[in-house]
Amino acid sequence: MPSPFEYAPAPESRAVVDIKPSYGLFINGEFVDGHGASFKTISPATEEVLAEIAEADEADVDAAVRAARTAYDKVWSRLPGRERAKYLYRIARIIQERSRELAVLESLDNGKPIKESRDVDVPIVAAHFFYYAGWADKLEYAGHGADPRALGVAAQVIPWNFPLLMLAWKIAPALACGNTVVLKPAETTPLTALLFAEICQQADLPPGVVNIVTGAGGTGQALVGHPGVDKVAFTGSTAVGKAIARSVAGTSKRVTLELGGKAANIVFDDAPIDQAVEGIVDGIFFNQGHVCCAGSRLLVQESIAEDLLERLKARMSTLRMGDPLDKNTDIGAINSGEQLKRIRELSEVGDAEGAERWEVACELPTKGFWFPPTLFTGVSQAHRIAREEIFGPVLSVLTFRTPAEALEKANNTPYGLSAGVWTEKGSLILKMASSLRAGVVWANTFNKFDPTSPFGGYKESGYGREGGRHGLEAYLK
Ligand code: NAP
Ligand code: MG
Repeated sequence: MPSPFEYAPAPESRAVVDIKPSYGLFINGEFVDGHGASFKTISPATEEVLAEIAEADEADVDAAVRAARTAYDKVWSRLPGRERAKYLYRIARIIQERSRELAVLESLDNGKPIKESRDVDVPIVAAHFFYYAGWADKLEYAGHGADPRALGVAAQVIPWNFPLLMLAWKIAPALACGNTVVLKPAETTPLTALLFAEICQQADLPPGVVNIVTGAGGTGQALVGHPGVDKVAFTGSTAVGKAIARSVAGTSKRVTLELGGKAANIVFDDAPIDQAVEGIVDGIFFNQGHVCCAGSRLLVQESIAEDLLERLKARMSTLRMGDPLDKNTDIGAINSGEQLKRIRELSEVGDAEGAERWEVACELPTKGFWFPPTLFTGVSQAHRIAREEIFGPVLSVLTFRTPAEALEKANNTPYGLSAGVWTEKGSLILKMASSLRAGVVWANTFNKFDPTSPFGGYKESGYGREGGRHGLEAYLK
């Protein structure tokens, strides 16, 4: 459907960021050379090389863990909570001051629309640091014992879908509780973590409290396997999460895992339908669907399915895909060629298994990695696109007749991270919320995040909670 509006380009300026040609590792408060083979990070929207990034090998990881241990023993574990809080508040304020820079850099390196990095990612990052700064001197009131103690050195490995936000979810509670950290960002999105390292310098954070080691899977493996770490926090795929759980079994390391999902977004026949359509769009097309809690399975009550699908397609046709730095862009680039390949392959399995594909008719840019907003109807529970995480802008639509059937279908998944319920009836919301096996259940909304609210999964979506008072537990003895 042609857009009723013509939009003039509205690009955010790149001039606010100063990308260096190459970056080292951030160890003990300084940028140092890595000893692995360096690699390039690109903009997935244009395939332009942004910078050369150092790769940390085992010796570099060891140096980072040692720096974190020394900083823990000599400085950070000795500071009273109110002093740690000052650093966290300072970091939070610098993030706000440099928010435009962080947002532009995130959109360049990750491919997500500036609208999202500017209005969602970066504000929640700052909020996370403010929130946990507030806990640092009140830990004995958090409900985790009268004299809660830090664990020591935390090894943190994060994915590429929310690079800076996942960093904040990991680093803010760890530091508030008195731990020091070594964090590995994903290979395709290291730049905002490296800018965060500069922010730590600017905040005068004592050297070694935060260390950033860039690299690929091997660096992550060396980090979580290092005997000097007390705690492992991982967000990423279920396959790697399982490998990490196996590798730390039998050690004294504490572990939290935040893995994949295949969330049901359930729409009942009495739901405010246009509002539900917005929630479905937000649920699966936010961040190109690269969201572990994405509402990737739409369960719609049969009596309204036809009407709802028609409205959904009309709404999807208004989504604007293109330059992530354009302020009118709704859908940016797929994060990597590898991820694009996975999305294509699973979508082709959907075709082969007999589901019906519908996609927004739009021109895809010739450079970069792109996939149009897509939905599949005629999906059965046995189809792979109903069971496996696609991690892209692809919605699988199923129908149901009764609440019991909706519940059974929603829970029929190895995952259990999130779910959504759309209905006017409060009693039905409560019934569904208490019976859905999911860590987060949204009612008449979707993909809402707040630092005060715990987030985490059941079953193959992992264990442990991040955010809120509950998130402190993962970093305390
Ligand atoms: P992944 O391989 O699990 O990567 C997550 C992080 O772990 C990255 O920093 C990765 O490094 C690192 N890593 C890889 N292998 C490791 C190992 N053996 N030991 C320690 N760390 C290791 O995820 P992905 O390949 O980026 O994405 C694959 C699928 O995972 C997606 O299609 C999606 O289904 C799921 N995923 C889920 C989430 C989530 O938020 N739950 C996020 C991203 C992806 P490199 O990236 O540098 O290789
Ligand atoms: Mg990149």
